[in-house]
Amino acid sequence: MNAPAKLVQSPEAFLTALFDESILIKTGVDGLYGRAGVFEEVIDGIENAVTKMAAGDQATRIHFPPGMPRKNLEKAGYLKSFPQLAGCVHSFMGDNTDHAKLVGMIERGEDWTEMQDATEVALTPAACYPLYPTVAAAGPVPEGGRLFDLKSYCFRHEPSKDPARMQLFRMREFVRIGTADEVTSFRATWLERGEKLIASLGLPCVIDVANDPFFGRTGRVLASSQRDQGLKFELLIPVTSDENPTACLSFNYHQNHFGSLWGMHFAGGEVAHSACVGFGLERTALALFRHHGTKVEAWPADVRRVLWG
Ligand code: ATP
Ligand code: ZN
Repeated sequence: MNAPAKLVQSPEAFLTALFDESILIKTGVDGLYGRAGVFEEVIDGIENAVTKMAAGDQATRIHFPPGMPRKNLEKAGYLKSFPQLAGCVHSFMGDNTDHAKLVGMIERGEDWTEMQDATEVALTPAACYPLYPTVAAAGPVPEGGRLFDLKSYCFRHEPSKDPARMQLFRMREFVRIGTADEVTSFRATWLERGEKLIASLGLPCVIDVANDPFFGRTGRVLASSQRDQGLKFELLIPVTSDENPTACLSFNYHQNHFGSLWGMHFAGGEVAHSACVGFGLERTALALFRHHGTKVEAWPADVRRVLWG
């Protein structure tokens, strides 16, 4: 892939090229890859640029692990809306007899997964999910609201040969909790900042209204209502296709949905609104490799400056 990466024709071809150049490392499972040092340096660079853009906002930084309480994922309605994407951690909880059975099943090449039970831990599907219950538990939302800076590995069961659709990937998210005006103006600010940031990385992009992949027939209704109300925007960059650009950033307004669900309210009792802005770190890194090639030393000097100072 020394030739301009633009020549890559399909998602599969791009993935193969990334393996060939040892930028991503194959594990045998689609969407589950090792990342080379150079890939991580690019991710660090993107994060530097994002952090610089948010300097002065005084966001509270929190890193949750990539697992969250299963009960909270249930309560958030994730299994109602996105059962196809959810992941839950299971473990063996049996006795000696069960253990012998488990080992026998594995030796015979049988499906042994029935020997495990669900733990209290579910895999985090988006960096902001673990946050809301902790905000509610901290008491009333202060005047002026709150702002958080989060980052997490996220899991979604969507195995794919498209390198931009991974099963485990990182999301950097800013989450604003406050009045409707506060959170919508936060989202408007980041729509502008996001475009500016991506342009400074020498990448083409468009912003479009979007919807989440709600499951099933009722899901279609939810998706079109989300679009009609303009609750979700995405910043799209051509990564594995020019015709179908990839959502690399998303800008979501939840109205007072999480506020009422989790009990986030102001001292006077009004329910807080929330919005989040998510940067898909792997997708943005892949966009850079796609547009500037696999040799980061050869990337344009101004792009390198934005990433690494
Ligand atoms: P898509 O519509 O492509 O499935 P999404 O818009 O549902 O993605 P969000 O739920 O808004 O994604 O997640 C926030 C960000 O996380 C996205 O803008 C994207 O950059 C990133 N992301 C989402 N799914 C994946 C994935 N499977 N692999 C890598 N990055 C992802
Ligand atoms: Zn979010």
